[in-house]
This record gives sequence, C-alpha cells and structure tokens, in this order.
Amino acid sequence: MNRSVSAKYIDPLDHIWIAAAAQLGLTVERSPHGYAHTDGKGKLYLAPTEELDADDCLAQIILHELCHGLTQGEDSFHKPDWGLCNDDQSTVYADDVTRERACLRLQASLLRPYGLRQLLAPTTDFRTFYDALPRQPLDEASPRESQLTQDGLSLAHHPPYRRVLTEALAATAELHRAVARAARNSDPAKPPSPSLMSMWQSVPPPKLHKSGLPMSDGMFEAPPAATCGGCAFLKPPEKRGASYRCQRTAAPESPGKVVNPIAGACGLFEPPLDCQRCAACCRHAFSLVPIRPSDEIHWRHPQLVGRSGKDLTVLRDPERRCCAAIEGDAQEGYRCLIYAHRPRTCREFSAGTFNCLEARRRVGLDA
Ligand code: SF4
Ligand code: SF4
Repeated sequence: MNRSVSAKYIDPLDHIWIAAAAQLGLTVERSPHGYAHTDGKGKLYLAPTEELDADDCLAQIILHELCHGLTQGEDSFHKPDWGLCNDDQSTVYADDVTRERACLRLQASLLRPYGLRQLLAPTTDFRTFYDALPRQPLDEASPRESQLTQDGLSLAHHPPYRRVLTEALAATAELHRAVARAARNSDPAKPPSPSLMSMWQSVPPPKLHKSGLPMSDGMFEAPPAATCGGCAFLKPPEKRGASYRCQRTAAPESPGKVVNPIAGACGLFEPPLDCQRCAACCRHAFSLVPIRPSDEIHWRHPQLVGRSGKDLTVLRDPERRCCAAIEGDAQEGYRCLIYAHRPRTCREFSAGTFNCLEARRRVGLDA
C-alpha cells in the first residue's frame, strides 16, 4: 500500500527562523535571483541552500536581514530591500557600507546574550569586520554607525520584535546545546575529523554560569579576574541574610538569580555604569518624572517644573525626546544639569537595577 506524504521535513533551525520571520509579517521564499532581497510586500527571498556558503545557514541570513530592517527603521519592512540602495555607485554606496556595519553591530549585540555571536556570524565579505568587532559591539563605532545600531537595538526591544527575537534566539541557543550534547554522547572517544566537522561542532556552545548566563558571548569571555562583585548588574542584598542577585536575569515578577559576588563573571559582565554619560532613563526609555513638594527642584530650577492640574513633573524636551535637564548627545555622552538637586524619583532610580537595564535596552545601549 502506498503511503501518502502529508508533511515536509524542515531543518529545525530553519524552522525557528522562518517562523520568526512569519511572525514579523515576512514569508521566506527561496529564489535563485540574488543572495537575499525583500519586495517590501511581505516576501523575503533567499538563495537556495546549494547556493549558500557552506558555513552559512538560513537562520543567519534571516537574522541578518531582520537586523537590516531594524537599523533602517520600522517603515523599511514595507520597502523593497529595506529601502537600501544596492548600486555600488557614488556617495550612496559609502552610506550603504555604514549601514551594513551598523547591521553587523546590531547582529552581534543581539546574539551576545545567548552565546551565539560566532554560531550565527555572517559569511559575507564583511566577516572580517564582524570578527574584529570589540567585546561591546557598539564600541569604536563612528557616530552614524552608533546611532543606526542604537536605533535598531531600541526597536528590537519594542513589540512585536522583542518577543519574536527573544524566543527565536533562546530556541537557537537551546538547539545549539542539544546538538552539542548529542554529538558528545554519541562518540565521546572519537572527536569528529575536522574535515567532517559541522557548523555546530566547530562552534561549541559556551558553558553556563551559575546565573544561567553564558560564560562567553560566543566570542569573548569576561575580562580576566572579573567577578560578579565588580559587575554593574549585581544587586546587593536589601536586608541581612538575603542574597546577591544578577539583574540581567531579573524580570518584573522575579528578582533575578542568586549569584556569588566573589565568583568569576559571566560573558556578559559589565563594569560599573556612569549615569552622567548614560542618561538612558532620562531619555525616551521612560516618560514622566514626578516631583514631590519637598524636592529642591521647585525653588532651585522652577523653569524645569511642569504642571498638569495638581501633578508636577520635570519638563521634557519633545524635540530631543528627553528630560529638559539633560545636555549632550550620543557621541559626547549625556549629562544631567541638576544632578546634585535631582528629584527623589531620580535619586531612587539606581544604576544596575532591573529598571536601569530596561532603560538601557529601550534606548539601544544594551541587548
Ligand atoms: S551579568 Fe554580571 S552579575 Fe550577572 S552573572 Fe554576569 S557577571 Fe554576574
Ligand atoms: S540609572 Fe542606569 S539608565 Fe539611568 S543613567 Fe544611570 S546607568 Fe543610565
């Protein structure tokens, strides 16, 4: 009796990323006309598997294309090729290089919390640039690259991108570990011959820290001798007998994993933050800062006090999308002009907390 075939096998990694693209309104189709392009009407065309580089995969290309869309802005999902000009002519081409670099910085930033920076690295001519990126992918960027990357990261942390990307990246990391486990268990005595090594085996998953975070972002470990105690995201106990907790693993409903301050740091270690350069929480991450009657700002800086009925708030600068007491820019860093006299709401907002990390994510300073 003939069997009727009712399902088609799809590589699980492909499946994760095809589903992610679909959730963002993109249908992936294979096409021999170019490596990757979009029609601006919901189709993402990718070259057939046999035309991809041997160490490339559909997942990497989909992620890379999404990073182009994110750095180009939300509207670009409705423009062919994300609104990018692909003619290698004149000044437009120079800007395309900047945009490609911003896209790669974003790709590395999104992959690093999952330890996947190497596994889903690009395979194009820009690979040398990607491999040479520093531990913090935003460091050493030109002002324009930095701005585009931060815009992309910021968008990636808003709906619907945040949930879709988080789920796809977490599933990819899980698959990476499962494949590595299976390969180890199947033939523990005989490592595979390098000529037969698959992409999965040539890039083993990083070990996990007690916090559950990866010990490496896929390319870089924490600086030598770095400990959780020196990390910006360690939250000290609030009362005697309580534990130190990692804020990178916190969520609104959970306080973060317990960690030991003298233990070695994970791959996402962050040195102490400088609020007088960052100001993420004062920019567009959060909107209003309420003022209490006892706050000095009332009499010291009345020009910064806004009133709406009985409610008093610090005025905002709608053009710069930040608190009106902030000066500076992404390049120089931001500075609060009334830091010594800032309202209690600002004083209670501490660096390294869950809300601080959330603010940094929303403005594109963290992944
Ligand atoms: S993010 Fe910081 S506190 Fe959390 S595990 Fe890594 S080094 Fe430790
Ligand atoms: S509290 Fe955090 S987000 Fe706010 S300025 Fe300081 S480092 Fe930046």
